Amino acid sequence: MTHAMRVVLVGYGPVGARFVEEMLPAVAAGRISLVVLGAEAEDAYNRVLLAEYAVGATDRARLEIADTAAARAAGVRIRLAETAVAIDRERRLVRTAAGEEVAYDRLVLATGARANVPTLAGLEGSRPVRGAAPGHDGHGAPLPAGVLALRDLADAEAVAPVVAGGGSIVVLGAGVLGMEFALLAAEHGARVTVVHHGPAPMARNLDEGGGRMLGRAAQRAGLRMAAHSRAEAVEFRETPAGPVFGGILCADGTYTRGDLLVLSCGVAPRVELARGAGLACATGVLVDAALRTWTDPDVFAIGDCAQIADPGSADATGRVAGAPSGLIGPGWRQAAAVAAGLHAEAEGAAAGPDASVALHERPTAVMLKAKGIDVVSGGDYAAEPWSADAEVSVWVDPARGSYLKTVVRDGALAGFVSVGLPQAGAELTLRYERGGALLTDPAALLRLDAPDAAAAPAEDPLGPDATVCWCNGVTAGRIAEAVHDGCGTVEEVGRCTRAGTGCGGCRGRIAALLAAAPVA
Ligand SMILES: Cc1cc2nc3c(=O)[nH]c(=O)nc-3n(C[C@H](O)[C@H](O)[C@H](O)COP(=O)(O)OP(=O)(O)OC[C@H]3O[C@@H](n4cnc5c(N)ncnc54)[C@H](O)[C@@H]3O)c2cc1C
Repeated sequence: MTHAMRVVLVGYGPVGARFVEEMLPAVAAGRISLVVLGAEAEDAYNRVLLAEYAVGATDRARLEIADTAAARAAGVRIRLAETAVAIDRERRLVRTAAGEEVAYDRLVLATGARANVPTLAGLEGSRPVRGAAPGHDGHGAPLPAGVLALRDLADAEAVAPVVAGGGSIVVLGAGVLGMEFALLAAEHGARVTVVHHGPAPMARNLDEGGGRMLGRAAQRAGLRMAAHSRAEAVEFRETPAGPVFGGILCADGTYTRGDLLVLSCGVAPRVELARGAGLACATGVLVDAALRTWTDPDVFAIGDCAQIADPGSADATGRVAGAPSGLIGPGWRQAAAVAAGLHAEAEGAAAGPDASVALHERPTAVMLKAKGIDVVSGGDYAAEPWSADAEVSVWVDPARGSYLKTVVRDGALAGFVSVGLPQAGAELTLRYERGGALLTDPAALLRLDAPDAAAAPAEDPLGPDATVCWCNGVTAGRIAEAVHDGCGTVEEVGRCTRAGTGCGGCRGRIAALLAAAPVA
């Protein structure tokens, strides 16, 4: 290549922003020219913290994850509020909504995901609209006033006055994100009802016993949990400014009034740009382990839009199993892997990106981020006691709000659920992280959270090899080094190691490491 390699990135969310950061040295050195097209008008921000921002638990500054000014100074052309609407793969051009054409040698798609809008009377044809790609977001109208799906800054800013004014919020869906938001909003003064299917919340991540214990904890925290509820219609009240959300009607005839409806019904990868360009897509844009699209070696996909699968793994009906992870940590590692490969290619390596990094990441444990409610689960926890092929132990203590389930196969931990037992949950997470290390006596775990606990955890959850920050893959040992080098606060550790700058769920553990560090 005689000119600098032209790379175009579509999407400037958290994963796109990490890609830009990783590309800076090659851009500054003139080996790569990078153009970024971002549909949102704002610099990239940490979407994971939107719920905290919406309720006033964190400020706008903490959402910042991209130094756009520095990237521009290094030569990256970042074009905000510019949507890519088509890709001409033959001519290697991306067309923008304004009709401009941007040429590429390598194209990276980081178009993320959008919130699902359930099929309900009153929401027919609606779609979340802000930050979306006009003309490429399917058909239909924006969500009606008073209905949103907490996916972007404008959504968070619409929630803020309702929470601050002690208004009533209906959350539709009780997955991990719906529950995190509902608990935060209630903690900050809103009256919250969670409307959900089935007997218990977090049905995709907890067994029924664990879910029921979480449901009780949520009620104690002030939430009204409307279980077994099948929403049918969204109703509106008339105001001088037009109709706004008034309440939600369920199949059993119950009507729940509210000032705001927050939809928490999952997300769908944004694949229409890729699909329109003839790139193979299933749930997400299909990419191989090097994050190259199955269809075109010059086009990559990363983050919430990318589905990693072995080419040719479609079943007889053409279906490809799996989905994007929907988590920020894997997206960040994918961004770094593609950037490293493009650097190498720009320096003359023959093959280009070879992300032989283990991109088939093991699913991480799922943790609910909520004050005073400790919930974590991982692996295959579905087996029931008396199962023939596993040792399943279950401990239920409704009076103390605790629930523990361990599933052991061949002496190793295959899955677990822990509610209301922070030490046991931390210990099990650590074992799970280590590939399900042997678990000989599950009953010993219960002692870890006893009021008179003298039993030390079998392993130190903050030992040097333990991962503290899952989003950025930072170990306790790395944090100890940063502390040794002079970092004295959680923020300083974050600046130095990136630990705690993703979902923020590990900030308490970083603070504990700082507190335990020897005084210099
Ligand atoms: C409230 C909330 C809480 C969350 N909590 C967690 C958590 O605790 N842990 C965790 O790991 N993850 C969490 N997530 C998920 C996490 O935010 C996502 O995994 C992450 O945002 C993915 O980043 P991304 O850049 O791939 O996609 P996105 O964040 O979706 O960004 C994609 C960007 O691309 C832009 N775009 C799309 N199409 C185009 C186009 N055609 N042209 C130009 N630009 C385009 C979009 O406007 C958007 O700005 C949470 C998400 C939310 C909403």
